[in-house]
Formats: sequence, structure tokens, C-alpha cells
Amino acid sequence: MNLDISLLQKKFGKSLIINESLAKYSWFNLGGLADIFFKPESKDQLKKFLREIIEKNEQVYILGAGSNTLIRDSGVKGVVIKLGSKFSDIKLIEKDIIEVGAAALDRQVSDFAKNNCISKMEFLSCIPGSIGGAITMNSGCYGSDISEILLSIKAIDEQGQEKEIKSHEIEFYYRGTNIPKNYIILSARLKGIISSRELIENEQKKLIQRKKESQPSQIKTCGSTFKNNNNKKAWMLIKESGCEKFYIGDAKISEKHCNFFINNGKAKSSDIEKLINKVKREVQTKTGVDLELEIKIIGNEK
Ligand SMILES: Cc1cc2nc3c(=O)[nH]c(=O)nc-3n(C[C@H](O)[C@H](O)[C@H](O)COP(=O)(O)OP(=O)(O)OC[C@H]3O[C@@H](n4cnc5c(N)ncnc54)[C@H](O)[C@@H]3O)c2cc1C
Repeated sequence: MNLDISLLQKKFGKSLIINESLAKYSWFNLGGLADIFFKPESKDQLKKFLREIIEKNEQVYILGAGSNTLIRDSGVKGVVIKLGSKFSDIKLIEKDIIEVGAAALDRQVSDFAKNNCISKMEFLSCIPGSIGGAITMNSGCYGSDISEILLSIKAIDEQGQEKEIKSHEIEFYYRGTNIPKNYIILSARLKGIISSRELIENEQKKLIQRKKESQPSQIKTCGSTFKNNNNKKAWMLIKESGCEKFYIGDAKISEKHCNFFINNGKAKSSDIEKLINKVKREVQTKTGVDLELEIKIIGNEK
């Protein structure tokens, strides 16, 4: 590590933790230690930290709510930055526009929109992540995704420079965007349409129920493991290839939705990753399709 850890500790106090266990920050409940875990208290502190580490060539990862991220057992030899509650404000800007901090949870944003009679954000009630993660992943479900409601983002580049990027300047694709990987999204403006609270609530309930029926809940998972293929959903390819009952140790495939991989209690990250690779190979052999990962895998291999 090229960083002077004790100097950083002096400068950033309790916002900086050395050797923090990352398992509690991933929905798989897995992952080793981060050399440096930084949870900024403010935008200014974040900028100061980035300026401090810029020259040192350290690996820097941004974590949202960790609902789409598998963290390797060896942890992160470098820096993990997680925006916390100081970055989760939700404000009404105009009657149909809200500004949300990147750490705000999708569900909270959906509820805030409902309480202000703003429609088009109902789908966020069933995505278990943060707004920063949802924008990075262009998350969505049931025919909607965040690109449709995003007006602009504010982000910080790796040098600590803040910029505003309008939605039309961003290229969105299925479960991703061209926002540079090292940008940290701070906040976003979202625009919906005015509707009745009752209609919005009914729509939210409908979507949540639909999710409950088709996907497992109360389990350690990061949702869909692979992206859907152009012609066929990933779960169909997994099923057709006979992988549904594959497992490695306690890394299993959900019986309810075979694109959801699970830590069934005592799995290691490496078990999940081995299971991913096993399924990928089998699907390639049986169908010729090279499945692409939807979840992100971070950390060092050894
Ligand atoms: C049960 C379950 C159901 C799910 N259903 C859906 C679904 O229906 N539709 C769907 O699209 N997804 C779904 N997901 C996946 C996941 O919830 C989404 O991808 C979510 O948007 C990820 O948000 P997060 O904050 O947890 O991101 P993380 O997992 O923390 O991070 C994901 C990516 O976003 C980046 N990131 C996070 N915050 C920031 C930031 N502030 N600035 C820059 N980069 C950032 C990370 O670096 C990483 O590359 C599901 C997951 C689970 C566990």
C-alpha cells in the first residue's frame, strides 16, 4: 500500500477504518477486509480524501447498498468508499422533480415520490439498492428503468472535481451506462409525472406482489447473477442447460428463480464465484451462449 495510513487516520478520524470487514456491506453477506474503508461525512471531506490519494495509484471501489456486488474472500487491497446517511437526503425541487442523494435507498425514493403524488417511480419500490447503484446499473424492472426518469447527476471525478452531467449526455444500456467507472455519483434529479397517491400506491403494491411471486426473498443473494440475453432470459438458459441443481458447498441456486444465486449459510465468496463459472461453462457448452455477469465482483483473487 502506497498510502500513509496513520496520516490518513489523523486527517479523517472516524470516517476512515483500517481493515474493515466487508461482509456486512454485501447482500451475499460475504467478503474479506478492505485495507481502507472510507465513509465520508460530507462532500468536502470526500473531495479532500480523493485529493489525498490521487497520486498514490491505489485501487478505489465505490459501494452502494451492496445488493449487486460479490466481494471476494481476500477482500480489497486498496480503498473502498461508501456514501452513508449524509448522502441520502431526498428533496422536492418542483412538483414533479425530486433531488436525491446517491445513498438514498430506491424504496425510500419510491415512497417519497408516492407521498408527493409523483408517478413513474413505482418500480423503484422493488429494487433493493441505492440510487447511486441504480444509476450505475441502469436498474429497472417490469418495463421501466432509471434512465426514463433521470434528469441529471452530480458526480465527483477521481481528482475530486465536481460535475453535473445531464441525462442526455449519458449513454444508457441494459444494466449499465457509460458514466466513467471512477466517478462517484453524489446525487441525482429525477422527474416523474403527477398522478394520484392512490393509483401510485396500488401500482407499487402490484409490482411488489409480482416480485414476491417470482423471486425469492429473505435470502442472501444479489439478485440476477447474469444479464438476460437478447433472445432468451438468463434463467431460461440456465434451466435448459440443466444447471438448476448445481451447487458448490453452500453456494446454491434459488429454487424459485434459477438466475438468483444464494449464500445458503456458510458459503465462501469463492464458492459463489466457482458456481458462477460452472454455470457459465455449462450454458456455453449446451446452448452456445456466453452469459454476461450482471453482478459485480470486486476484490483481489488472492
Ligand atoms: C433480491 C434482489 C432483487 C433485485 N432485483 C432487481 C431488479 O428487479 N432490477 C434490477 O435492475 N436490479 C435488481 N437487483 C440488483 C440490485 O439491487 C441493483 O443492481 C441495484 O441498483 C444495485 O444498487 P446498490 O446500491 O446495491 O449497488 P452496489 O451493489 O453497491 O453497486 C453496484 C455498482 O454500482 C456502483 N455504485 C454504487 N453506488 C455508486 C455511486 N454513488 N457512485 C458511483 N458508482 C456507484 C458500484 O461501484 C458498483 O459498480 C436485485 C438485487 C436483489 C438482492
